[in-house]
Amino acid sequence: MEGVLENKNTFVVRYGELALKGLNKPYFERALIERIRNVLRKYDGIEVRREGGLLLVRAPLDLSESQIIDDISKVFGVESISPVLEVKSDIDEISNASVEFMKDVIEKRGIKTFKVEAKRSDKNFPLTSPMIARQIGAAVLKGCKVLKVDVHNPDCKLFIHVRRDKTFIYEHKISAFGGLPLGTNGKGLVLLSGGIDSPVAAFLMAKRGMEIESVHFHSYPYTSERAWEKVKDLAGNLSTYCGSMKIHSVNILPIQEEILKNCPEDELILLVRRFMMKIAERIALSTKCLMLITGENLGQVASQTAESLVVTDNAVNIPVMRPLIGMDKSEIIDKAREIGTYETSILPYEDCCTVFMPKHPKTKPKLEKILESESLLDGDSLIENAIKTKETITIFPE
Ligand code: ATP
Ligand code: MG
Repeated sequence: MEGVLENKNTFVVRYGELALKGLNKPYFERALIERIRNVLRKYDGIEVRREGGLLLVRAPLDLSESQIIDDISKVFGVESISPVLEVKSDIDEISNASVEFMKDVIEKRGIKTFKVEAKRSDKNFPLTSPMIARQIGAAVLKGCKVLKVDVHNPDCKLFIHVRRDKTFIYEHKISAFGGLPLGTNGKGLVLLSGGIDSPVAAFLMAKRGMEIESVHFHSYPYTSERAWEKVKDLAGNLSTYCGSMKIHSVNILPIQEEILKNCPEDELILLVRRFMMKIAERIALSTKCLMLITGENLGQVASQTAESLVVTDNAVNIPVMRPLIGMDKSEIIDKAREIGTYETSILPYEDCCTVFMPKHPKTKPKLEKILESESLLDGDSLIENAIKTKETITIFPE
């Protein structure tokens, strides 16, 4: 296109909350740029850099624009992305490029109305912002006969940002997840089942900048190889947001069998859950994870009533994050769909908890009673032996 400065696909990347981080802003910005570079590393010729207060990504023209937007939008800390044209800061060049740009938008999105919003950072530019907006608006109306101006509710807002060295032309913003760049908020260990909830819980903590490792409990041979494949697939889905991710897998079957042998059947789930937490705590301490993360949700099932959560929580000293605690199942499912884990989560492979599901699990357990049952077991050696079965793999983003 005539007048266009860079023969590249260029994008403006905006970050929301990061901008508020005061003196720590450079640290967060560096982390964000590093993450964007990382997810785009698979392509050649990508440039990520700050220019005059804007974060810009430039990619060779032969790379798909939508693929790059998709990749960048998975980086936590990014609030929105817009493809931009860079042209010389000259009103005729800006007008011509704007008309071409809008023709393209009409073709892509079939818009009927528009509005121009102009901003002038270079105060030496001969026109004021309202004058730029008017002039470009007139040029677009003349060049694109199907368009009308609608200042209140336009189908497309055309942004013109005039700076000294060049002018940026762009339109709608593609929203991303926001949050904070990965690695700026410590590391947590998620108890990752094959269900719908725990991947969403991991996602929400990672979105706040937390690096994620995971532990999965299986009851092999009662649980199958396919159930394990499913967990790896879920970790693969998550790793597109969270970066490469470790899964520690631990066999919990001997513990389940000991409990079944020695304790009341209706306490099985809670006792198993306490062991899961304790084993996870041990792994967290040895992997520098600061907290545990679960997909627990108030009242969803018998093991997640308020009374049951008290019993589970009491098992460990490490903080336990339950980011889904107040969500409804439908909200969790929406989120799982949005992040792309839902379809994998609903595959019907058995989980270690469902293998020995009691018919009437306790819903209002008493802590003293559970502790009494637990004291019938040799907890320490059960935990030691379970940890000996631990196998660790690392899942890399696709
Ligand atoms: P999810 O959908 O995450 O499986 P759920 O609704 O099935 O959750 P529970 O089975 O009670 O609920 O599990 C509660 C939480 O305990 C899970 O969200 C997860 O964090 C953890 N958990 C359950 N089973 C396992 C497992 N096999 N391995 C690791 N963590 C597990
Ligand atoms: Mg489950």
